[in-house]
Amino acid sequence: MNQADSRRDELRDNLALVRSRIDQACGTAGRDPSEVHLIAVTKLFPASDAALLAELGVHDLGESRDQEASVKAAQVSELTTATVRWHFVGRLQSNKARSVAAYAHLVHSLDRPVLVEALSAARRRLGRGELEVLIQVSLDEDVDRGGVHPDGLAQLADQVADAEQLTLAGLMAVAPLNAAPDPAFERLAELAGQLRSQHPGATVLSAGMSGDFESAIRHGATHVRIGTALLGRRAPSFG
Ligand SMILES: *Cc1c(COP(=O)(O)O)cnc(C)c1O
Repeated sequence: MNQADSRRDELRDNLALVRSRIDQACGTAGRDPSEVHLIAVTKLFPASDAALLAELGVHDLGESRDQEASVKAAQVSELTTATVRWHFVGRLQSNKARSVAAYAHLVHSLDRPVLVEALSAARRRLGRGELEVLIQVSLDEDVDRGGVHPDGLAQLADQVADAEQLTLAGLMAVAPLNAAPDPAFERLAELAGQLRSQHPGATVLSAGMSGDFESAIRHGATHVRIGTALLGRRAPSFG
């Protein structure tokens, strides 16, 4: 068996395991698994892996750095005709907004007003219609990990909703490091409910990674972002 075939088998096995964990978590939570969308986070893995996942039926792929994502998106489109929707899940610098707006299907990490302007202007220039965005909210006090403070969420949401070319699709969060995920995701569910009361269309809740997605599903996640459990361990010291 060649290397590509054995990698395909490995990804297929990992995918089956992740899907069964999602199904089980949905069963426990009394939710329909069709409500939970799997995003494979392919950062630091090659375009060939991303293409294999798309061919295995994972059509939503996530990246966290524009430099890597823009190159990979082009490579993947050469490697496969399978449908791929790119999700930008990492910290976004405003000078990268134009690049990201060109390939992103959903931006998960809008967390400050300057990005509303930058993404809206970029999308207008591209003439590609509305871009769906999630607001990333911080569940701890660590601003380096991104996210608007919960106190600023409502105002930022209004700005996104008023912006031309942007559609407010929902909320995203990363659980705090070194703390139990359940209380954090419970708080997130509250914030998501408040957001929906003002913006009924904001129904997406992007939460849960390899280590905590069962908890996120219990608390209403509609999109889980899974890297390690699908692809294996990344090189150390990279978030
Ligand atoms: C890397 C990353 C993930 C995936 O993390 P794993 O623990 O490998 O599943 C999810 N969300 C964001 C924002 C990430 O940067």
